[in-house]
Amino acid sequence: MKSVDIPLQSAVAPASSGRGATRRRALQIALILLVAGLPLSAAIPEFWISQANYIGLYALVVLGLVLLTGVAGLTSFGQAAFVGIGAYASAYLSSTVGAPSWATLLFGLVVTGGCAYVIGAITIRMSGHYLALATIAWSLALYYLFGSIAALGKYDGLANLAPMSLFGIELRSGRAMYGLIWACVGLCGWGLCNLLDSQPGRVMRALKHGRLLTESFGVDTVACKRLIFVLAAMLASVAGWLYVYLQRAVNPTPFGLNASLEYVIMLIVGGMANVWGAVVGAALVKLLQDQLQTVLPSLLGMAGNFELIVFGAMLIVLLRFAPQGAWPYLRRLVPDRAPRPVLASPPLNRRTLHHSGGPLLTLTDVGKRFGGLQAVDGVSFQVAPARIVALIGPNGAGKSTTFNLITGALSASAGQIAFGTTRIDGLPAREIARLGMARTFQHVKLVPGMTVLDNVALGTQLRAPSSVWRSALRLDRAVERQRLHEAAQALKRVGLDGLMHAEASSLALGQQRLVEIARALASDPSLLLLDEPAAGLRHLEKQALASLLAALRAEGMTLLLVEHDMDFVMGLADRIVVMVYGKKIADGSPAEIQRHPAVREAYLGSDA
Ligand code: ADP
Ligand code: MG
Repeated sequence: MKSVDIPLQSAVAPASSGRGATRRRALQIALILLVAGLPLSAAIPEFWISQANYIGLYALVVLGLVLLTGVAGLTSFGQAAFVGIGAYASAYLSSTVGAPSWATLLFGLVVTGGCAYVIGAITIRMSGHYLALATIAWSLALYYLFGSIAALGKYDGLANLAPMSLFGIELRSGRAMYGLIWACVGLCGWGLCNLLDSQPGRVMRALKHGRLLTESFGVDTVACKRLIFVLAAMLASVAGWLYVYLQRAVNPTPFGLNASLEYVIMLIVGGMANVWGAVVGAALVKLLQDQLQTVLPSLLGMAGNFELIVFGAMLIVLLRFAPQGAWPYLRRLVPDRAPRPVLASPPLNRRTLHHSGGPLLTLTDVGKRFGGLQAVDGVSFQVAPARIVALIGPNGAGKSTTFNLITGALSASAGQIAFGTTRIDGLPAREIARLGMARTFQHVKLVPGMTVLDNVALGTQLRAPSSVWRSALRLDRAVERQRLHEAAQALKRVGLDGLMHAEASSLALGQQRLVEIARALASDPSLLLLDEPAAGLRHLEKQALASLLAALRAEGMTLLLVEHDMDFVMGLADRIVVMVYGKKIADGSPAEIQRHPAVREAYLGSDA
């Protein structure tokens, strides 16, 4: 198969409006100066410095929730427990062996990360309500654990801890801690922004949209979710570490379920999936909480935690009328970043399949039962290399099910499937994708809210290694450029490079199908499986698709497609397999199929 490099005129992004970019920059610099300058002014009372410190600590925890809940869709009501693990681990090491501050940070990160890994391994497979309930359960369990261990001072906790000391500088006052806390917030926020703007980040954003999707381009979904869980816990651990040195004491109270709920409220107020929304949410909730704590008791004439009632009501109103939180409103003040141009880049590695020269795909007596329904019944056929084979049949014939058996989305109840000489029945979808198979879905699966280009770049997942740490530190730019360039090339092939910066869900359904084909092509597959690729396309678009598929075959790619449109298939396929009620009734060249009496009878109707 030869690689085709097409010049990408339309890939160059529209020129950014110079004034917009300048205003963005000016706003960013003003914000950084404001945050950095706050403690320098002695006129700012200690009270506000302390407020700002707590906002910073909360923001760190909420940053973790942005990744966990906002991006990956995993609900957690247990983040405060991870703050607690980080805090107790640091405090314990500091009070027992007098360890330096950097060592207590590392120790806290290791202990929290380890606990999160174990808890994640047990709970992360659960979904929806079950996961949320499980997080509440271990959050309570850890809270009572902190209060019961004698070495941790039970409910009194540990006190009289040493002050923070880094590089020989002691940070005794809140004012001194301020710089460190906000440097941590800035650094972690920057790292998270970088991560989300990279291949691992794209994969994380795709997780919410189902396992079938992420596994189809080779991602181990459970491992990825567990990693996110650990990362979110580590951010909470950093907050716990800072808390210990700010308070110079630690007890279980701030790590209970109440605190965890407050973090979730901050997340929602800030806007769920926005990195800097975490800071906004933490600030708004903390400031409002303090105001309510003083105003409400004097208004009502009695003491009590009335602010929690107001928070509850506020949350309901917010979820009803502004489910996106405060961030979208603030976002409007900042001009949009112009889309970045796709730069020319060396191609990614090709993925060549080594096979013996026999058929590329072999199904032998494959069957699939759903309860009482035999959806696929003893189906056998082969697909030779560099051929287009079409699987046709009336609705409900079992075509999509056969497809899902081949790609590993479903496991076969009977029979064998071989890809080249490798048996693949029983392998998970991601392993099959790794062998060089790519697919599209009958019901299009794109990640909404992400650009067309980013959606297609997901397909390059297996063609280059990606690392969360390298991405967070922005050391992955060269391979990122390669991925985006490959994605743009794939879009050019399906004729959609003009729309690469559009949001994926804004496209017409037919175009979304083409984006899926581009995503599959970006993985450089040996075998491409397309489920009803022509559905929703107009006549001219169908012709363009047919010539694209023929060109791919000419380059050596093998294709298996499920299709309804007989004309489309007859002019294109080398071989047609006909299924009816789960059984294969015919298999031959288009001419043979057209003459086949059983096909005319079953598929076209007896008088066709
Ligand atoms: P086709 O793609 O040829 O239209 P399908 O493979 O989607 O047909 O479906 C074949 C049969 O299997 C249908 O009767 C369908 O209702 C059934 N079926 C498909 N998927 C499932 C499933 N996950 N659970 C139960 N029944 C299913
Ligand atoms: Mg189908």
